[in-house]
Amino acid sequence: SEHLLEVDNLFIEFHTRDGVSKVINGVSYHLNPGETLAVLGESGSGKSVTAQAIMGILDMPPGKITKGRILYRGRDLLTMSKEERRKTRGEEISMVFQDALSSLNPVFTVGSQISETLRKRKGMSKADAMNRAVELMDQVKIPAAKARVKDYPHQFSGGMRQRVMIAMSLAMDPKVLIADEPTTALDVTVQAQIMDLLAELRRDLNMAMILITHDLGVVADVADRIAVMYAGRIVEHADVHALYKNPAHPYTKGLLESIPRLDAKGTELATIKGLPPNLLRPPSGCAFHPRCKYAQDICVTNTPPLLDLGGGRTSACHFAKELLDGRI
Ligand code: SF4
Ligand code: MG
Repeated sequence: SEHLLEVDNLFIEFHTRDGVSKVINGVSYHLNPGETLAVLGESGSGKSVTAQAIMGILDMPPGKITKGRILYRGRDLLTMSKEERRKTRGEEISMVFQDALSSLNPVFTVGSQISETLRKRKGMSKADAMNRAVELMDQVKIPAAKARVKDYPHQFSGGMRQRVMIAMSLAMDPKVLIADEPTTALDVTVQAQIMDLLAELRRDLNMAMILITHDLGVVADVADRIAVMYAGRIVEHADVHALYKNPAHPYTKGLLESIPRLDAKGTELATIKGLPPNLLRPPSGCAFHPRCKYAQDICVTNTPPLLDLGGGRTSACHFAKELLDGRI
């Protein structure tokens, strides 16, 4: 069946002075209308790069897509005409970034920044675009939107600025919203409010959402499915409840054990030892093996294939079944 958005066997390299860094190594995921997929991983796992490839904004030094497809409603963004691609990325898919302060222009009012897209892409008049900007600010629950539309970014708190960014991303009524660490720069209470807002908007506007995060703690209530990334691969993909209940990959298990729990105050959090791999010189076999407490000889020599565990669940671990069955 055709998905709304599908990343299919994507490979991306970055050519640096020190050599070729293989940052995405065969990533596939999909998104259906109205659904939320969380893409989880540490910094450098490739979760943002995949999204940047979808949006056509790969960072410098130039990332190069060497293989794969990015399908929107069955049409490949990488091979469609420039015009169609620009339309799709501008109107169907939109993205919210982590750092609202540096994404907003300090010298223009938030109203003029929200309405700019509407004027450019929808040809709205200044007055109509401004009215729509107020509606959008209302929709993201910025109090007194009508008055605040004339304020400048520095007059808003961090959380309110992120709401302005979300309002901007909704201007074209996108079908897919990609949120890249949307709450990382904010304090904990505000984080929860922004996550609630995103969940509510997704529901009310019937968008699909890709939520990129390093924090497994924030996705439980929001996501339908989770794709866990490590070293440019998806190492586990599962329904959110199945994954929380019984992880099928040692990395996911480690992430779950490092979430602070309210009912376990005072107990020490487990953390995953070691650092993410250097993708200029990735470890042999399973890229996670230097940090994995279950590693065996085969893990050092053989890259684990993505095992299909049924029910839409996959894991790239030689011992996924043993882990799932509680045998290790
Ligand atoms: Fe650990 Fe081996 Fe599984 Fe990799 S394949 S996650 S090293 S047990
Ligand atoms: Mg990132």
